[in-house]
Amino acid sequence: MQDQVSVDLYIDGRWMPAEAGETVKMIDPATEEQVGSFAQAQSKDVLKAIEAAERAFATWSKVPAWERSNLLRKAASLLAERSEQVARRITLECGKPFAQAKGEVQASVECIDWFADEARRIYGQILPGRTANSRFTATYEPVGVVAAFTAWNFPVVLQARKIAPALAAGCTIVSRPAEEGSGAVALLIKCFIDAGVPAGVVNLLTGTPQVISETVMDSDIVRKVTFTGSIPVGQHLMRRAADTVKRMSMELGGHSPVIVHEDVDPAKAAMIAAQGKFRNNGQVCVSPTRFYVHEKHKDAFTENFLAAAKAMKMGNGFEDGVEIGPLINRRRLEFIEQMVEDTKKDGGTLVMGGKRPADMNRGYFFEPTVFTDVPDDARIMNDEPFGPIAPLSTFSAFDEVIERANALPYGLAAYVFTDSLKLAQQTSQALKVGIVAVNNTAAATAEMPFGGVKHSGFGRENGSQGLLDYLDVKFTNFSF
Ligand code: NAD
Repeated sequence: MQDQVSVDLYIDGRWMPAEAGETVKMIDPATEEQVGSFAQAQSKDVLKAIEAAERAFATWSKVPAWERSNLLRKAASLLAERSEQVARRITLECGKPFAQAKGEVQASVECIDWFADEARRIYGQILPGRTANSRFTATYEPVGVVAAFTAWNFPVVLQARKIAPALAAGCTIVSRPAEEGSGAVALLIKCFIDAGVPAGVVNLLTGTPQVISETVMDSDIVRKVTFTGSIPVGQHLMRRAADTVKRMSMELGGHSPVIVHEDVDPAKAAMIAAQGKFRNNGQVCVSPTRFYVHEKHKDAFTENFLAAAKAMKMGNGFEDGVEIGPLINRRRLEFIEQMVEDTKKDGGTLVMGGKRPADMNRGYFFEPTVFTDVPDDARIMNDEPFGPIAPLSTFSAFDEVIERANALPYGLAAYVFTDSLKLAQQTSQALKVGIVAVNNTAAATAEMPFGGVKHSGFGRENGSQGLLDYLDVKFTNFSF
């Protein structure tokens, strides 16, 4: 029973149940057992949080940048101290292997620490005016109250990437994490509270997304919405933002191509690609998704990819050595099963997995799955699988593979394997994506801008660019 938590709302500096008193169960995807509950916010709770954030903005936006920076630094160090506890909740609520959950907490610490620095580097511009007695300045001001909606695949770091830059910029925030992972996010919020964030600056809402987001979208107080999730939900929020002309950042779905050029060692490329593919069970927006392997390497790449996938241990994320946990919920499990059936029908050859493991009768587990010879018009080559299925295909010429890689409306990440710097540069330049990783699959770090193009969204998180999304520019023309 020690794993049970009950997550309240955090509004205006106080933890409180939802006004209607309703709660929702949290389920461990590895055991299908309840591991707690979270409050089900209603419109009234949402309005309270928005109003608290508005009141707090009046003072927080005037707190000197160095003080905001100190507070963020303290929150980062508290999170680092509590890493085991937070990672444990991520594993319990989302099934992520414990080592990966700790990695997520570490990435969150780095992100908050990064924005503690960036808070002190909000540079403006001064230009000569058009007369001898004038000056032009461009200065940055916080956009105001921000609302943040995030997905469950990286529950803590996705919220950290929004809360940290918002606070660094001088904004206040109303956060609504995914249902799965709410308990872990509550621990993140606690780090900001214990670091001394004033009442109303950070507010936590949990519950049914539509109830919360419809109230948020109607509010003229909320000046910016930042969303991490699927393209259809992002499009819905964009349409709803028109009435109150809110600023938006959209971190949406991806369908990342992997290009394995002729000049590489296929065994090495396959090992790195498989590790990247099955990290977090493929439930990653930047997950390597469509594999275009030079035809010369088809057999060697496939053989080594299968060997690397087979070597990964599946199980409860708390067990030693487990690299693959369960999928997040039953809905995702059924989606992946359907995607496997569709890929078979569409002409792919199943060479590994394709089913739930026979020896595990509890939890939402699904075997790492590999298809070869998957045609470009197969559903999986076009719709985001967001799961542990790798469709392999081959190519023979540079222009051909670039055309196929760029053919989808997605434009988040891409992966390139080559030993040639020239070819790496040419491929990166030709790809219509926001992120390219060459000979590795690490697509996100605190210091580099993260985000997509085309239907994968707009705006950037992390890096020095991440702060700009929370700042308005003011031009002042001084005559004296
Ligand atoms: P989803 O869009 O259904 O849900 C994402 C989050 O949004 C969840 O917390 C959900 O509760 C919430 N949500 C749903 N409807 C909402 C609404 N009307 N208003 C506000 N919030 C709402 O997506 P999902 O299938 O749960 O998550 C996976 C998707 O998220 C994939 O498409 C993946 O690529 C994307 N994603 C993108 C990034 C990125 O940084 N680009 C990162 C992680 C996940």
